Amino acid sequence: MKKNILLRTNLMVCIVIIIGFCLTAVLSYQANFDASLQSIEQVSSLTSEGIYYQLTTTFTKPVNISLTMANDSLLRDLLGSEATHLDDEDYIGRLREYLGNYQEKYSYDSVFLVSTATGRYYNFRGLDRVLTRETPENVWYYELLDSDADYAMNVDNDEAANNEITVFVNCKIKSDAGTTLGIVGVGLRIDYLQSLLLDYEKKFGVQTYLIDDAGEIEISTQYTGFERENLFELNAFSSDVKRKVLNWTKEEAACSFWTSEADTAGLSSYVVARYLPELSWHLVVERNIGPLMEELYRQLFQTVLIILAIIGIILVVITYVIRGFNQKIIEMNEKQQEVFRQTTEQMYDNIYELNITQNRAAGKSTKRYFESLGMPGDIPYDQALRGIAKKQIKEEFREGYISTFAPENVLREYEKGNTHLRYDFMIRLDGEDYFWLRIDAHTYFWPEDGCVHMFTYRKNIDKEKKQALQMSELAQKDEMTGLYTKMATARQINRLLEQNSTGRYAFFIFDIDNFKQANDSHGHAFGDSVIVTFVNTIKRHFHEESVIGRIGGDEFVAFTVVSGRQQADEMGKKLSDALHMQHVVGQMRWNISASIGVAMSPEDGTTFESLYKRADTALYQTKKRGKDGYTIYLSAQSGKGN
Ligand code: GH3
Ligand code: MG
Repeated sequence: MKKNILLRTNLMVCIVIIIGFCLTAVLSYQANFDASLQSIEQVSSLTSEGIYYQLTTTFTKPVNISLTMANDSLLRDLLGSEATHLDDEDYIGRLREYLGNYQEKYSYDSVFLVSTATGRYYNFRGLDRVLTRETPENVWYYELLDSDADYAMNVDNDEAANNEITVFVNCKIKSDAGTTLGIVGVGLRIDYLQSLLLDYEKKFGVQTYLIDDAGEIEISTQYTGFERENLFELNAFSSDVKRKVLNWTKEEAACSFWTSEADTAGLSSYVVARYLPELSWHLVVERNIGPLMEELYRQLFQTVLIILAIIGIILVVITYVIRGFNQKIIEMNEKQQEVFRQTTEQMYDNIYELNITQNRAAGKSTKRYFESLGMPGDIPYDQALRGIAKKQIKEEFREGYISTFAPENVLREYEKGNTHLRYDFMIRLDGEDYFWLRIDAHTYFWPEDGCVHMFTYRKNIDKEKKQALQMSELAQKDEMTGLYTKMATARQINRLLEQNSTGRYAFFIFDIDNFKQANDSHGHAFGDSVIVTFVNTIKRHFHEESVIGRIGGDEFVAFTVVSGRQQADEMGKKLSDALHMQHVVGQMRWNISASIGVAMSPEDGTTFESLYKRADTALYQTKKRGKDGYTIYLSAQSGKGN
């Protein structure tokens, strides 16, 4: 029960915390997620814009320088006279000086010139090599020559600069007639560009790419145009993304959108694309949502751990508090029960508990009591009841004891609404004397097992009971003479007759002759003393088992065992003689005599009433004869005292 309460409380607390946590987590996740998406969009756009302007600035200058060189009449003149100075060191020296000056002035990695007429490639060192169509590395040159564009950019390894990956800005040098005399250009090491992109990537957590119209990466932090990697193959972008990026050719403005990977439904990354018309390149800034999600999940995981720890701590605290509380309640209950037990034990000698419905003992002490009487502890209660009655209870109380506490009677009384049964009886423990015991039994319904139970409270009431009996005995006796009253006399005589209906008894009635005169002559007190003397005389003639009673003002009865009519006759005579006496109190004298009637049992009757009637008839006979004598009923034998 207590465990259930603990479990329920803990469960409720867990549920409340978990619901609270889930709501908070979902709301904060949603808010974080939305804010993060916005920030991704903003950061990506700003990054794209920043890179775009940096690139524009970076390339504007070399393009301008290249264009300046391409339109320099000095260079055009020099080229025009190339055919005649092919082996002229001086001529080559002038070209070298021209190119070297530019390189030095603007700190480019390479400044070069290619003559269309001879295919000669000059740089700051002089004549470097002669380009031919057959060599694949020279594609850039022939592509530009063949195209209508005035200039072009390409990424290449600069053979002249230790094969460094370099972006070349190549411009056509045209004659006044419009024919291409040569191509002049500058080369920029793209390590610088890569570190520029790397700076942005590190700062803003984005990926940046410069790609050409086919999607091939010209510059990124990992690749250059030299490796000919295609962004759309590398990143598994959908064809839709490719189309959007490559079709975007507006200057300055950016195109931005969320992509989703082909196999995932959610947002995957945010892409901002711009177009660099000078280079015919596309700047792609991509911010992957993965790290964001990772961060959000990490936060969620952290929160879950914290909440679990909090739940754990709360559960431990609650369990500790409830356990302590329960313990206190248990201790209080135990104290109360102890006080109750002690108080009850002071009031009762033993308390036993019985399961009436299941007809068995319900407590250890009850079982022990059964066992102390030599019965098994789990004996059916009704059998134990009979066993107790037989072993310990005085015979005349056995039936009353069994019928009161028998399970069927207890249940019957309980059904009637009587939950209290009481029986006083005499019991003997371990062969000692019988004493009076009271059992108060209380029945109640015990919902835990759905049975009617009974508690029996036993109390020794010997002292009280004996006092009460004494009191009632006193009430049965005449105060002046100590003899039984008429009712008590009748009861006692009838009891003796019932016990032994065939025994021989004599029934005497005594009447003081002329008693009224004693009162009249000497007063009521004197009359009383006459009665006491008269009674004492009668008492002396009977033994203890005889019943002597006062049945009227001056009328008395004596009932005793006799051997036969003869003994009764003798007794009649003796009594008549003894009661014939003079009573003296001070100066007052009075002659006592008695009229006696005798009836015999069983011949004259076997009850008080019948014997009284016969004896009274005999008494009447005595009076009729002149009093102071005795008469035995029917026998007609009579005697007369002196
Ligand atoms: P008889 O010879 O016919 O028996 O005449 P009696 O006078 O004895 O008869 P009766 O029955 O008329 O008188 C009984 C008297 O006993 C009447 C009553 O006043 C008196 N008496 C009854 N009880 C007591 C008592 O307790 N004390 C005293 N002093 N007198 C009593
Ligand atoms: Mg009388």
